Amino acid sequence: MKFSDFNLKDTIQDAVTEAGFTEPSPVQKDAIPLVLEGHDLIAQAQTGTGKTAAFGLPTMSMMKADGSVEGLVIVPTRELAMQVSDELYRFGQKSGLKTATVYGGTPYGKQIDRIKQASIVVATPGRLQDLLMSGKIKIKPNFVILDEADEMLDMGFLDEIKNIFTFLPKERQTLMFSATMPNGIRKLAEQILNNPKTVSITKSEKTNTKITQLYYVVQEKERDDALVRLIDYKNPDKCIIFCRMKKEVDRLVAHMTAQGFKVSGLHGDMEQKQREVTIRAFKQGGIDIFIATDVAARGLDVNDVTHVFNYHIPFDSESYVHRIGRTGRGGKTGEAITLVSPNELRTIKRIEKDVGATLVTQVIPTRMEVQNNRSDALISKIADTKVTDKAIELVKTLQHDLDIVTIAHLLASMIQSENSVKGKDTIGLGLEEIALLMERAMQQRGNGGGGRNRRRGNGGSGGGNRGSRNGGSRHGRNGRSSGGRSNGGNRSSRNGGNNS
Ligand code: ADP
Ligand code: MG
Repeated sequence: MKFSDFNLKDTIQDAVTEAGFTEPSPVQKDAIPLVLEGHDLIAQAQTGTGKTAAFGLPTMSMMKADGSVEGLVIVPTRELAMQVSDELYRFGQKSGLKTATVYGGTPYGKQIDRIKQASIVVATPGRLQDLLMSGKIKIKPNFVILDEADEMLDMGFLDEIKNIFTFLPKERQTLMFSATMPNGIRKLAEQILNNPKTVSITKSEKTNTKITQLYYVVQEKERDDALVRLIDYKNPDKCIIFCRMKKEVDRLVAHMTAQGFKVSGLHGDMEQKQREVTIRAFKQGGIDIFIATDVAARGLDVNDVTHVFNYHIPFDSESYVHRIGRTGRGGKTGEAITLVSPNELRTIKRIEKDVGATLVTQVIPTRMEVQNNRSDALISKIADTKVTDKAIELVKTLQHDLDIVTIAHLLASMIQSENSVKGKDTIGLGLEEIALLMERAMQQRGNGGGGRNRRRGNGGSGGGNRGSRNGGSRHGRNGRSSGGRSNGGNRSSRNGGNNS
């Protein structure tokens, strides 16, 4: 099946071709025709399956670009708002469809100006409700899309969403996308959807017990450092780093390359040829590290991937299972490593429950630990090295001026300086602190109201969790230096030695 089979408007079809999409994803195959026929829709599909295009392409194909707001997309977080907006802008540009992104924590003025010029508004619930209730904007979109609906309910946005719909026209086409279908979602669907069609894409792979699943808790801004440190420590033969967004892939490729790693990015924008060349280089070992989005890595079958890193935790379990399944193939063992920020801890619990596996928490190795690890490896490498004639000659030459012990010291220093570990000494949170935060996160889950205020307070931008930044962090560090982390409970497996 091809995109051209959908009979999208020419300018939209051109944008799809330009984006390099060749084959529609399963959710796109099912959803696009139904949307074009004018149905309301409730669609279940995991993260990274191309839902943005699934609702974006058909609705934009039906838009008139008459200067009014024709489409409204409601998303849980600012990050997603920007991501969805970028993608829709790319598809709609040739059709004269502008997008406006609306989220909290920024001034109203500019956002309102943008909305006045836009055909599509992508908004988080809080700010959108503010704008509608205060009468600052009046919009009559014929297409309304709830993206990541389960996540919005989890974040406590149900009231806002219901309220927002009281400001929207009754005559409209409404689409709801969600990774999971809990009762709350079904109830909401009954209220806002009219005779909806259902699309459900839930292929599941079971997790493989040969895969060790670990997670590390870091502050938002520590992700890059944590990733580099863990790769330095684990020293993977071949690994895949998963990102949520194409933009993040590009940024990380640049960052890791600058750190001296052999990396390559893989995302949906790449041409098929380029993609094949990159995958071949990865299979043959010319590239050690792949940085990929979910869709790009779908079905990627490379043997000998020793480690999978989740730069961000995926929103849903299906996606998690799919990602970590890139390692531990063909009966081999593998490690799946997930970086989470303190306010993502409840997602860890949800995934553990869904997947039926335990994710073990660990502390990110200190610079010294990595250094020691490397020294050990160096010692055995030296012991295993064969003496060459050229080396004997080199040492003879050096012996004209230096004694043999000095020569040895100089050579060792030289090797070690090339092997030094960069970065901060300690990165991320200690075990005691993680345990505390996890306890708190699970309590907050219990009383929905608390959780909601907490999440709303930081505008969904991943700005961190106040509670953990202050008292918490200090605590953890003390725990580390006093050796407290080693008795952090049965979840610790710090003393595992060399993990490569
Ligand atoms: P979701 O909303 O389901 O999490 P997205 O819509 O964000 O997924 O898509 C994830 C990535 O996959 C994006 O980079 C997008 O451009 C890309 N993508 C979507 N559909 C296709 C397709 N049919 N072919 C190739 N890449 C695609
Ligand atoms: Mg999405």
